[in-house]
Amino acid sequence: MKVAILPGDGIGPEISAATRLVLDAVDDRFGFGFAYTEIGIGFTALEEHGSTLPDSSFEAARAAEALILGPVSHLDYPAREKGGLNPSGELRKRLDLFANIRPAATRPDLPSRTGASFDMVIYRENTEGFYADRCMYTGTGEVHVTADVTIAMRRITRHASTRIAEAAFAGAMQRRKKVTVVHKQNVLKLTDGLFLECCREVAARHPDVEYEELIVDAACAHLVRRPEDFDVICTTNMFGDILSDLASELSGSLGLAASVNAGDGVAMAQAQHGSAPDIAGQGIANPASLIGSTGMLLEWMGANRKRADLVEAGRAMLAALDRTLADPASRTRDLGGTLGTEAFARQVAKAITDAG
Ligand code: ATP
Repeated sequence: MKVAILPGDGIGPEISAATRLVLDAVDDRFGFGFAYTEIGIGFTALEEHGSTLPDSSFEAARAAEALILGPVSHLDYPAREKGGLNPSGELRKRLDLFANIRPAATRPDLPSRTGASFDMVIYRENTEGFYADRCMYTGTGEVHVTADVTIAMRRITRHASTRIAEAAFAGAMQRRKKVTVVHKQNVLKLTDGLFLECCREVAARHPDVEYEELIVDAACAHLVRRPEDFDVICTTNMFGDILSDLASELSGSLGLAASVNAGDGVAMAQAQHGSAPDIAGQGIANPASLIGSTGMLLEWMGANRKRADLVEAGRAMLAALDRTLADPASRTRDLGGTLGTEAFARQVAKAITDAG
């Protein structure tokens, strides 16, 4: 199986190497025969090829069966005309990875930032919304009208809204059967109006699933006040991006925040957080986010391809992560522990081997 790792910027190379170490233990146990390719993106690719996502890197990523993307420092990239493409947005758009699935759950033995125990998954639409790089066919969704006037456009389509709602309801059917749709229809009447209309249509086809709607500002308060009441949240691109950081931090740390970007038949593992330049190069970043994302990816691939061994391997990764995090002596600094990135990954790898 061809596994492509795109290490990215900041802490990306460190947490990618840690994830590879854990994948080696998975491979030893399950015998998939992973063939790794490391694909240059971000600042290293800019230096070598003049672009943060050269065509050769994109094509290599497209050819892989399993895709693992490290975080990127795209805020610091030069303008697009000077080679500064956001690899994350480009891959999501060009591979049509429309659903960004972002779980956030407390763990019994790990202190969270709230007294509550919760387990939720946010389904964030990934291909349009207020994201300037994603919502136009050519050009971007931002316009500089005069030196002092700028405009941002938000595209919401029936197609994208319906398919994220369908993904969210399908996810809820595998869980506690509740979907909360988060919107701002009171001010974005047309765009969130259409989004809500699509969600309601999908809800009507799922009478077994409890359906709730919340305005995004109220949703923030409810997430802090009663996180245990949420199962699946379905929302547009920007709201999902923001709410998922809040939910993950409430669960303990952004360093735990895993996600997959899923399309039709293709998916990509990606931590929810950014490149954390404040701690890059120190060997202290928590790789649980990317390890968890990769576990989710294997599970997703297994379900998609009807391969029970991949589902089992993905679950084994997630279980090993839980077991490792349960022990205060095997945590990274963001969770009050002392382990470095690599040492933590070795503990997870050992937990996978020991459970085999
Ligand atoms: P970027 O510019 O790439 O978005 P950022 O620092 O603005 O980077 P994040 O990377 O999401 O945003 O980081 C937010 C905070 O969370 C930072 O203090 C960072 O150190 C911390 N953080 C993020 N990821 C991790 C991780 N894997 N382990 C430990 N701390 C993390």
